[in-house]
Amino acid sequence: MAKYPKLFIPGPTHVSDDILDVLSTEQIGHRTPEISELIDSIVQDIKKVLYTNNNIYLVSHAATGLWEMGTKNSVLKGVLHCSNGAFSSKWALSSEKNGFYTENIEYEWGKGIKADDIDKKLSTGKFDVLAMVHNETSTGVMSNLEEISSLLKNKYPEVIWLVDAVSSMAGVKIDVDSLGIDFLLSSTQKAWGLPAGFSICSVSDKIIEKSLKIPNKGYFLDIQVYEKYYKKSQTPTTPSLPHMFALRKMLDKINLEGLDNRWNRHIEMSKYARNWAINHGQQLFPEQGCESYTLTCIKNIKNWDVNSIYEKLLSRGFRMDRGYGNLKGKVFRIPHMGNVYMNDLKEYLEIMDEIICQ
Ligand code: PLP
Repeated sequence: MAKYPKLFIPGPTHVSDDILDVLSTEQIGHRTPEISELIDSIVQDIKKVLYTNNNIYLVSHAATGLWEMGTKNSVLKGVLHCSNGAFSSKWALSSEKNGFYTENIEYEWGKGIKADDIDKKLSTGKFDVLAMVHNETSTGVMSNLEEISSLLKNKYPEVIWLVDAVSSMAGVKIDVDSLGIDFLLSSTQKAWGLPAGFSICSVSDKIIEKSLKIPNKGYFLDIQVYEKYYKKSQTPTTPSLPHMFALRKMLDKINLEGLDNRWNRHIEMSKYARNWAINHGQQLFPEQGCESYTLTCIKNIKNWDVNSIYEKLLSRGFRMDRGYGNLKGKVFRIPHMGNVYMNDLKEYLEIMDEIICQ
């Protein structure tokens, strides 16, 4: 058995041995031709994963910092948040703490974000930015980006659209350019299947231009500073090279798998996990039609002793999830993303079955 239990929590997710190996690649200078070549190759491949011509920044800190890069570089009037879980609520809090005029459409946890609600708020003219989480990791809810995209294109083309895709990027197809997302962000410890502490974002020309008009956005998260180094295929500060080597390796794996196969694999695993839950008499937590492709959030209506299942799974070498935030103890989540393939998921659920039947 490995030293640590295999992670079946929705982040950090399981990192496979081939990825762990490249993390110890020898270091290179961060102002050298080698780094520019590495960054160029990574950026070109991420553009394919995101179906975009937008600029891609590689960022050596957690995604939470990118929430603030998005808002600091775009909000002049006000930011409209949509909160339907723990992470979207925290992002709204971050905007309040930054002193932006902030309003929040608050949904009951488990619900998806609705374009009609956004329309009502944006029609007041109080907001120049919309911020939302695509895949709420705390509830397993994935909201419909197409509906929101068509609302923004048709009625609010000047609004800057910020999307957190922390637990969907690289696991779910997000066609950034056809959706018109101005700022899409993720960290690497979820569907990218890499260690935490590194993030990726795509930035549109619209937000780059908007950022020019914004005073007092500090230095560290200023898109203009990023742009200066992006043009040289470098990063503003000394980057986490192990993450970059691992990202390169992961992109090779994604290229080998093929994008369509990758999206389908995640859809198939989500169907499997949902059916497993329903066949066991449990209920899915998300409202129908909003179930995530990368994790399944299960309402424990059968009153299984989740703590006991957790301990037994641990003794079999697996770390289980028991719910997050307000939902702790009421739901449990099954992640199926990144380095988790159908066989891994089946193995995990079979062991869970053995434990439940004991
Ligand atoms: N957004 C979502 C949807 C998340 O699930 C998480 C972490 O789980 C975050 C943001 C925060 O990411 P990080 O820990 O990389 O800042």
